Amino acid sequence: MSQVNQSKIYDYVKQHGSILEEYLETLGAFGQLEEGGIIRPVYSPQWLDAQKQVAEWMNEAGLAVRTDGIGNLWGKLEGTEGGKIFASGSHLDTVKGGGKYDGGLGILSALVALRFLKEVYGQPRYSLEVVALCEEEGSRFNKTFLGSRAITGTLPVEELDENVDPAGISIRQAAIECGFDPSQLEAARRSDLDGFIELHIEQGRLLDDAKLEVGIVQAITGTRHLGVTFEGQADHAGTTPMDLRKDALVAAAHAITRIQAIPLQMGRPAVATVGKLSLEPGATNIVPALVHITVDIRHSDQAKKERLISEIELACREAAASQGVTVHIEQHQDRVPAPMTPAIINLLQETADELGITNMPMVSGAGHDSQVMVEQIPTGMIFVPSIAGRSHSRAEYTPLQEILPGVALLAQALYKLAY
Ligand SMILES: [Zn+2]
Repeated sequence: MSQVNQSKIYDYVKQHGSILEEYLETLGAFGQLEEGGIIRPVYSPQWLDAQKQVAEWMNEAGLAVRTDGIGNLWGKLEGTEGGKIFASGSHLDTVKGGGKYDGGLGILSALVALRFLKEVYGQPRYSLEVVALCEEEGSRFNKTFLGSRAITGTLPVEELDENVDPAGISIRQAAIECGFDPSQLEAARRSDLDGFIELHIEQGRLLDDAKLEVGIVQAITGTRHLGVTFEGQADHAGTTPMDLRKDALVAAAHAITRIQAIPLQMGRPAVATVGKLSLEPGATNIVPALVHITVDIRHSDQAKKERLISEIELACREAAASQGVTVHIEQHQDRVPAPMTPAIINLLQETADELGITNMPMVSGAGHDSQVMVEQIPTGMIFVPSIAGRSHSRAEYTPLQEILPGVALLAQALYKLAY
């Protein structure tokens, strides 16, 4: 550990890091709601203003600024040698009532990292780029990852016209109104990137609880959504003896307690959530006939995720059988786990240790652009703490001193890659 904190860039980050706080405050004002929190859906006026602000900061940092056809904003620090390009960034859009760290912090950390690297070391050998991805959250078009899917060439052109917002405006139309040229979607693809690192708040409480400075993401969790319908029989609540009922809600209740117990027994990071429940006919004096629940199931290991799903499905069938009701299970969304690239994981791990930055390997339970990027580009993620794990909320908060170790790690990793 002789190299602990012997990094010029880490010292520089500590000395000049307050600029990141200014950036965060300024960016967080775009789309700020009266009651607190931010709403900044892609292509909205406040989103466009935010993008212009980030472009201005990129210019000030001496980066070459451009936007692509879908509306990703890029700032480039040209290398002295051609051949390789490494990028860092995150998404500019927010959920409704979101905080100022989700997405924004990853863009601004990358911007600050490039700016500081340039100020300390000058021009890199290989090019470095900051990207403000246009869209990740799906809060306007019910489609997610527009920016990263355009970059990886996995955004079908039909989606631009098929998907409309609640006002009936298509992705294409909204992009054009912002001055982008979505007919250039193909040109937004980046097959020339040699690496991508995304810094993001954890959005959970593990780092805060462990009092560690950064998490090195090993994988982004896989998700399966199930729709489960229990069908029993509506009967009179007064005249139907308990032993003669086919109560769909009791079956669902048995299933739900198992849906909690199964991942708990499997251990972290297995999770399963029943987030929606509806029942019919829904009257005080009628035995419930029909209950529909949704189940969100996540694990970062594909085999364990499949085991979790089959155990939960079995639990639903057993719960139904125990009450004499039928069950129907529908498979909805499925996303396979996305392991991050081992070379980038190792780079981040080693660099954190060299800098004396306390860290632990983590799984991301939330989805991120990095899970799309890693399909085509060597990719890794740095998590910084979220105080009390709060996110997708105006309560989202991380003090500057808990952000800067992550920024230093990002900068030093980019230094190793590009200088
Ligand atoms: Zn995010």
